[in-house]
Amino acid sequence: MGLTGADAPAGAEPGSPGRNAGTVAVPVPARRDRWEQQVLADPQLLGDIAFAVGGPFHLMYPARVVDNIRAFQRVFTESRVSGTVYYGKKANKAACVARACATAGAGIDIASTGELTAALGQGIRGSELMVTGPEKSDELHWLAARHDCLIAVDSIGELKRLAASDIPMRVLLRALPAASASRFGMSAEELDHAVSEAAEYPSISVQGFSFHLSGYDPIPRADMAGQLLDRCRAARSLGHPATIISLGGGFGVDYVPATEWSAFQQQVTRRWFHSGKAFESYYPYSFPEPGPAMLATILERDDLAGRLRRTDTTVAVEPGRALLDRAGSTVFRVQGGKTRHEHGQPYRILTVDGSSLSLSEQWFDSEYLPDPVLWPEEPGTPTATVVGAATCLESDMLSWRRIPLPRAAVPGDLLIYPNTAGYQMDSNESPFHELPLPPKVVLSEAPGGRYRWALDQSCQ
Ligand SMILES: *Cc1c(COP(=O)(O)O)cnc(C)c1O
Repeated sequence: MGLTGADAPAGAEPGSPGRNAGTVAVPVPARRDRWEQQVLADPQLLGDIAFAVGGPFHLMYPARVVDNIRAFQRVFTESRVSGTVYYGKKANKAACVARACATAGAGIDIASTGELTAALGQGIRGSELMVTGPEKSDELHWLAARHDCLIAVDSIGELKRLAASDIPMRVLLRALPAASASRFGMSAEELDHAVSEAAEYPSISVQGFSFHLSGYDPIPRADMAGQLLDRCRAARSLGHPATIISLGGGFGVDYVPATEWSAFQQQVTRRWFHSGKAFESYYPYSFPEPGPAMLATILERDDLAGRLRRTDTTVAVEPGRALLDRAGSTVFRVQGGKTRHEHGQPYRILTVDGSSLSLSEQWFDSEYLPDPVLWPEEPGTPTATVVGAATCLESDMLSWRRIPLPRAAVPGDLLIYPNTAGYQMDSNESPFHELPLPPKVVLSEAPGGRYRWALDQSCQ
């Protein structure tokens, strides 16, 4: 059986009848890091881990997190700007990521006492922690103050609560961007008020300002940083140190090459999806200036770097997703499959041994698009395949679209969803159906070019 419906070869004119008539999605291949290529090419490793773990699992490669952190740090060095990287911890709970931050000299951005203690336990010092979140609990304030963390204050009320405790605290004031409907941060008037109010509190030291924008546009970030430089100057005149500006997170990730991504976007039709499912939007899986390149663009705009240097201001960034780029994947075992037809074309519905909660995108009413890899990677008959979870919910599908897998999957095969470390793998997991949570398996390079694995400390 040929590749059902995909009779138009890849690269066909968008909108050509052959493609539009198809019931099979175009390929959306993920970029692959060297460690992923080697692990996929290893004839035993993945099968051995699957045998030992006995269920779905996440692979983590923390050495890549170290590289990602260093790439951000290099941008600071090259633009001669004093800068600090704080990992936005909510993007992945693995202990090995926090340890990678400690190794590479990055701090961590946390928002709960659980995240705070997890970070300390992996060697991050209190002074290297940034604490964000609205109206943080008294307990979190107290712990953060005890550990000399930098606390991003979200409101005047929160500032007053901090001051009332009389414990010395280093704070940033979080700014609400003009024309933003965000529920976080303080308006221009509130910031003015907070700066003068804080000058009355001897225990509060205003170290600077922070913001976090949604979207991935460097320009509003650079503009906002420029405005906050003026605020730092004004705060200094009131006696505050005011030497730090945090640009927040939201640095893009380039999951899929631009050509394949635009082919998907131009040709996508609900005919590609099991039961005619339609999604309104997808994450921007192709991103021309990812992570560190985006930071460089921000620093270059309107000579922001020069202005930071001349005012002795330090920049903080809080990337979550971007530090996890190509640092992990999620592995399911195929339990079985059945054949269905769409417009007379057969396709396979697989059931794998986990749930879409370990891929999270379905919870944003969207689909995770980088194609899963069928392992072992052997030649066969191209087969259109959708992927369902081992649960009794109709809606629990890992992939609704008919993916052009290179062969028909059989029970025991592994299906590896690439680049899932950032938000996909563990942000929404629950032991639904009393299924165990997939453990995180940490890979490291061993002498002789082999890879070794161990369970992440968070799973022991
Ligand atoms: C979520 C969050 C981040 C990280 O965002 P990414 O998009 O993962 O880079 C950074 N800072 C704050 C305040 C956040 O809420």
